Amino acid sequence: MTTLVANDIATLAIHAGHEPDPFTGALLTPIYQTTTYRQEAVGVDRGYTYSRAGNPTVAALEKRLGALENAPPAVCFSTGMAATTALFFALLQSGDHVVVSDVVYGGTVRLLNQILSKYGVTADFVDGADPRNIQEAIRPNTKLVFIETPANPTLKLTDIEAVSVICREAGIPLVVDNTFLTAALQQPFELGAGISLYSTTKFIEGHNSTLGGAIVTRDESLLEQLRFVRKTLGAPQSPLEAWLTLRGLTTLPWRMKLHSEHALRIARWLETHPSVEAVHYPDLESFPQRELAQKQQQNGGGVLAFEVVGGIKSGVQVMNSLKLCSLAENLGAVETLVTHPVSMTHGDVPPEQRAETGITDGLIRLSVGLESPDDIIADLAQALNAFQGGAS
Ligand SMILES: *Cc1c(COP(=O)(O)O)cnc(C)c1O
Repeated sequence: MTTLVANDIATLAIHAGHEPDPFTGALLTPIYQTTTYRQEAVGVDRGYTYSRAGNPTVAALEKRLGALENAPPAVCFSTGMAATTALFFALLQSGDHVVVSDVVYGGTVRLLNQILSKYGVTADFVDGADPRNIQEAIRPNTKLVFIETPANPTLKLTDIEAVSVICREAGIPLVVDNTFLTAALQQPFELGAGISLYSTTKFIEGHNSTLGGAIVTRDESLLEQLRFVRKTLGAPQSPLEAWLTLRGLTTLPWRMKLHSEHALRIARWLETHPSVEAVHYPDLESFPQRELAQKQQQNGGGVLAFEVVGGIKSGVQVMNSLKLCSLAENLGAVETLVTHPVSMTHGDVPPEQRAETGITDGLIRLSVGLESPDDIIADLAQALNAFQGGAS
């Protein structure tokens, strides 16, 4: 398998997965807004029967997402959480165990601790920054390892290559939630992982207008199982959302490059501000895992996190004073969004687990958009200065 370089991705993101319509010449795949497909004869169809099982617009998105990772067509879902749920249903049964990196999307923790636990699936959350912790947590009934790198919201990294070696020895698949970087900046399969998982809601669609999820793998039998689970559980992507996601994808490689450049600039600026205690961003010289970042990702990505001097009280004040940056739960779009993980996205993660993993009460997550970085810095400056004035 050859490694894809940035320019290949830029072309694939625009062209993979669709041919101009043979009847009309339409350049883009139409939105096939249909539930049902007329069959030629009993038992004879053209590959589509009912849109819960498959739809041509969704199929175009699936081909393109697969192509970005040199893989067969992806399986797309209505949300990222639907994708995670389907993956667990496909691979796990009662009595099974999973190892999960300790800083993951809040919904993944909720799914394991509050829903799958009722069906006899157990999970251990371990610090993936040291792969030995993952190795030690694997038991005879462990059926998969699930990591998120960089992790939401602290940006902690897990060494995909090292963990993939551990998983191969144990004979179990490694799942990488690659939502933060996407295939444009990190290629999990090139590092030995077997499954990439995405919330396409974030950078892939990139415009804060759709929900979606996707699973990419080169394992054909797993793809088959995932399509079966999707058809049965009933959470497929819809044709309109798929079309919007296809459109978002066309600019993904260039957006990721810009998101990263702007984020690095803002991270560097935040580091110099006297009211900022800590900045977490993989491309910063001060980032403890910078070497690993340089080994496995093309650059730092579009998300950073920082802590304001004075903890939660001052953090809340700063967030409430921002004007251009919107306080919101989402990330990964052209608008700069700011999130307070403890009260918003990670509210359901038990406080002890949050404390152990560095999700402090004062942590602020910034998803850097594509506005002028000078304007974002000016907004952050006025909010931080207002707080400084108020505190003295
Ligand atoms: C948002 C997100 C999810 C869940 O995706 P939804 O589309 O919101 O269901 C999973 N993982 C990560 C890293 C996310 O940021």
